[in-house]
Amino acid sequence: MATKAYAAQSAETPLAPFEIDRRTVGAHDVQIDILYCGVCHSDLHQARGEWGNTIYPCIPGHEIVGRITAVGDDVTKFKVGDIAGVGCMVDSCQHCPSCEDDLEQYCENGFTGTYNGHAFGQGENTYGGYSDRIVVKDDFVLKVSHSEEQLAAVAPLLCAGITTWSPLRHWGAGPGKKVGIVGIGGLGHMGIKLAHALGAHTVAFTTSESKKADALKLGADEVIVSKNEEAPARRRR
Ligand SMILES: [Zn+2]
Ligand SMILES: [Zn+2]
Repeated sequence: MATKAYAAQSAETPLAPFEIDRRTVGAHDVQIDILYCGVCHSDLHQARGEWGNTIYPCIPGHEIVGRITAVGDDVTKFKVGDIAGVGCMVDSCQHCPSCEDDLEQYCENGFTGTYNGHAFGQGENTYGGYSDRIVVKDDFVLKVSHSEEQLAAVAPLLCAGITTWSPLRHWGAGPGKKVGIVGIGGLGHMGIKLAHALGAHTVAFTTSESKKADALKLGADEVIVSKNEEAPARRRR
């Protein structure tokens, strides 16, 4: 289906309007009208070719929230009208030990990125969320239960959120544990909020004095301005 998007045609050219053709909904596919898509710094790296692997045209965007407009015949978990999210992956081999362990991000045959990824067996380029709609295999679509007003804020959870949530869960962040968050940017601000919400003693490290107030507001118990010589020294004693 003809879909409007924003694409970079080369590392040197800015994003510009571009039309793509989204695939017809297959038996296990979910078609989503995109309402919001976060801007992740990976999008900039990829669009500018800074990782050396960009396939052009490049349509970034892997923090997608939208409304389902069609589902395939074999889709049981979603229906038309549901709000759904799509993160960094849209497919994986689904038969290697990692995939069988629900760890598709470690797929031994390489997962398919939401953009700049190769579709299995087809070798085509995937296009991300800087577009009007996307068609994704149901196993890689997430249910979103937040209210309409919150959906813009839900989008960054799909990459910045999971990237910080995963290690916090892995290491059991919670009451009685101390968590240090280094750098209060796109991921860092999310890390502070999540660590605080989990009940851990949260220490934010920043080189910018100006971010101190924000870090405290986000839930940090302590903020250490790491450019300031005294603060780290105090902690070594
Ligand atoms: Zn990202
Ligand atoms: Zn796999």
